[in-house]
Amino acid sequence: MVMSDNALRELRCRGPRQETLLRMLENTLTHAERPDELIVYAGLAKAARDHTALKLMTEALLTLEEHETLVVQSGKPVGVFPTGTRAPLVLMANSNLVGRWATSEHFYELERKGLIAWGGYTAGDWQYIGSQGIVQGTYQTLTAVADAHFGGDLAGRLVVTAGLGGMGGAQPLATVMAGGVALCVEVDADRIARRIDSGYLERGTESIDEAITWAREATASGTAASIGLLGNAADVLPALRERGLAPDVVTDQTAAHDLMYGYVPSGMTPAEAVALRESDPDELTRRARASIATHVECMLAWQDAGSIVFEYGNNLRAQAAENGVDAFRIPIFIEKYIRPLFCQGIGPFRWVASSGEQEDIDAIDEIVVREFPDNQLVQRWIPIAQKYVRQAGLPSRISWLAHGERTKLALLVNEAVRQGALRGPVAFTRDHLDAGGVSQPLRETENMPDGSDAVSDWPLLNALLNSGSGADLVAIHAGGGGYAGYMQSAGVTLVADGTAAADERITSALTADTGIGIMRYADAGYETAADAVRSSGLRWFG
Ligand code: NAD
Repeated sequence: MVMSDNALRELRCRGPRQETLLRMLENTLTHAERPDELIVYAGLAKAARDHTALKLMTEALLTLEEHETLVVQSGKPVGVFPTGTRAPLVLMANSNLVGRWATSEHFYELERKGLIAWGGYTAGDWQYIGSQGIVQGTYQTLTAVADAHFGGDLAGRLVVTAGLGGMGGAQPLATVMAGGVALCVEVDADRIARRIDSGYLERGTESIDEAITWAREATASGTAASIGLLGNAADVLPALRERGLAPDVVTDQTAAHDLMYGYVPSGMTPAEAVALRESDPDELTRRARASIATHVECMLAWQDAGSIVFEYGNNLRAQAAENGVDAFRIPIFIEKYIRPLFCQGIGPFRWVASSGEQEDIDAIDEIVVREFPDNQLVQRWIPIAQKYVRQAGLPSRISWLAHGERTKLALLVNEAVRQGALRGPVAFTRDHLDAGGVSQPLRETENMPDGSDAVSDWPLLNALLNSGSGADLVAIHAGGGGYAGYMQSAGVTLVADGTAAADERITSALTADTGIGIMRYADAGYETAADAVRSSGLRWFG
């Protein structure tokens, strides 16, 4: 492998694979919403248990040998084992609790004692790449909505949503990319400012009337636009409705999965919600759930009036249902818009340039566009991403690729690293929201045709397979507070360092990763998934 002088000089670990994983950990933390607490996104998703654990993990990576495996338990390093050069360098289990004990109360009790940390999907296993990671997913969903309901075009269409946090902050940009107008309600002025600074949001206001005027001007002229509106969704959405605003699309990305750390109740500032969490957590939960009920009732009223309404996976419906709202009349976005892609093993694949050089990502963009001429998703996405996505942290790209396409791309990139055409190793990873990676009965696996929504054997098998295939990092995730706890997922990272060993790891792990995904959907009864399995050449006993 040829590496640039720069990249070689900066090699601090005992090999480029270890170095790349360390850079992935550091990169995840550069995106942290609350760096002091190591919280990366989704209210409480951490990259390491605490600062001591982070220091120990960093030291372990700096001294880790090629034939060793670092074992991490909920963000804290446990030990290093001699496992061989085909074994993962890092294995993790984050926030897994035994069935009956997998409750919010027990999770928070353990969290307070420092015995556990929630990794979310991609914070705990050092795969978070900032809002770009979700921009593509949101863009993908919105274009699918446009295809299904608006003749393939969001121009002149208004999307009303809330939450401009770590992941929700991608909503305004994704809407603009899809040609629509986003009106995003956010209770925290700092978040609005942060999204404007990062270029993900165009402008903000505290005035409901001004926001409505801007939204109406943009939709009337068919101009893509994004507007941040400071306020609480539970108050502002009903106010928008009272003023006669009729959105085309309504969704939400407040961190409603977790009432202690996520959803600010009506009438409170974020700081007051934090204070109430300390003094009276039950009261905070009660008030947050009551506010969510109002919020969801407004969404239902818009749905009944003809708006396209869907939940974007933050468990808003389940919270409202606990207060007696008929919230599950609102569909989940996955079943309708994304699952058909999962059935073909298409999902959010991403790659990160460990060199820190944007030109590496540009070169890989060229490979993608050249090698997948018939893949309309990437042909449409890559030019849009180049135009709109501002890189933060290590340069990266996310693009939805199918089973087989991912292996092909990673091998081509590994060859480019080998030839010195790229300036350093490239890490390949994906969101856990993917064909093979997750069971979440209120989101990714809601309404499976055979009723297997809650069977979590699949992500566990995914992790075992990835580990057996020699992926560089493999993690199993579960738990967390609130409804986030009702999931099991698996994460995987592969390092293309230009070696022949990386060719082998990539081929077996990336084939396994989506292979088990298409088999999972075929097993549940999806004929398109069965077709994908048949054409994959994998042995299948379906
Ligand atoms: P975050 O904690 O970083 O941000 C949440 C934001 O919501 C914050 O900016 C907060 O100020 C704001 N907020 C809270 N209560 C509010 C209220 N009442 N009115 C207006 N704004 C309010 O969380 P995040 O990382 O952006 O994730 C948001 C949620 O979306 C999570 O529940 C996450 O699980 C979910 N999500 C799901 C998917 C998926 O299924 N693919 C993808 C992205 C996000």
